[in-house]
Amino acid sequence: DDPLDPHGRTDEIAVDGALRPPSLDEFKGQPRVAEQLGLVLAAAQHRNAVPDHVLLSGPPGLGKTTLAMIIAHELGAPLRISSGPAIQHAGDLAAILSGLTEGEVFFLDEIHRMSRPAEEMLYMAMEDFRVDVIVGKGPGATEIPLEIPPFVLVGATTRAGLLPGPLRDRFGFTGQLDYYDAADLVGIVQRSASLLDIAVDRASASVIAGRSRGTPRIANRLLRRVRDFALVKASGRIDPDVAAAALELYEVDALGLDRLDRSVLEALCVRFAGGPVGLGTLAMSVGEEAETVEEVAEPFLIRQGFLMRTPRGRVATQRAWQHLGLKVPASRAD
Ligand code: ATP
Repeated sequence: DDPLDPHGRTDEIAVDGALRPPSLDEFKGQPRVAEQLGLVLAAAQHRNAVPDHVLLSGPPGLGKTTLAMIIAHELGAPLRISSGPAIQHAGDLAAILSGLTEGEVFFLDEIHRMSRPAEEMLYMAMEDFRVDVIVGKGPGATEIPLEIPPFVLVGATTRAGLLPGPLRDRFGFTGQLDYYDAADLVGIVQRSASLLDIAVDRASASVIAGRSRGTPRIANRLLRRVRDFALVKASGRIDPDVAAAALELYEVDALGLDRLDRSVLEALCVRFAGGPVGLGTLAMSVGEEAETVEEVAEPFLIRQGFLMRTPRGRVATQRAWQHLGLKVPASRAD
């Protein structure tokens, strides 16, 4: 990550909106989810009805927020945005729900992090478009039923498995977003470059795409870092060597592993001799939250064949030692 902006968020927030594809036609990649979702929306429009609730799951930065915005855009409906951690009391949720208009899209990010009472209120709202609001305290408290207009809930979560069954079952459609393939990411980098007025040829776009961990948000971020590097060190001209040198500087390696990915692998291979080691111990040794390691680093490392989850803990593969430039221990060579 950028040392001056460890979370990569400052200029990101400013340009994020500008780079978001506004419609399903402009949304690249995820062909299956896009087609399924397109069908759900088109059918609802045919029936002149509000579509089923939609759950989007997948690692961060793959386009869940973007898709929620697209759903609202395609339906011509307003969009209301909130997140699980922001809704701690059922009352917070009741206030949002009762303010929705008919057909409005309600995007609830990190839906797995809502409080239990809010979650239970949401079940009823999703199913019956009704909530029971508790008025008063103690023995005198009464429940007042409150009708809410039919709305579309778009829930986002890093892992659908984190949701309680009753909540998951109330979604009519679940879109599982997966890492993007290289060709789609090249297209995304080129689209973003042209929107940001950056000249990038296909070969350079493919260097950036190849190091983006299959993630559009990272592709957009790396594109901006390459642009900065080229401005300062190469009189603004981007070619594949310039792109590679820029990404080297920002500690993004040739396979797209960033500092967190590599420190997880290093801890696993060196400190824990390849494992098995528990998630909590592994996370602590790299100074991260278990959730971050599990939901941000691991899915990519598993997909790349560097790490395995086993019932006894996390285990490194031979490929992990090789990628770190270390000798595979005799006990692990087969
Ligand atoms: P998080 O859950 O962390 O908020 P997210 O999955 O909601 O992540 P988005 O915020 O929707 O991710 O997308 C991140 C960035 O990637 C956006 O700025 C958007 O421009 C870009 N992006 C995502 N998907 C696509 C796509 N299919 N085509 C082009 N750009 C995309």
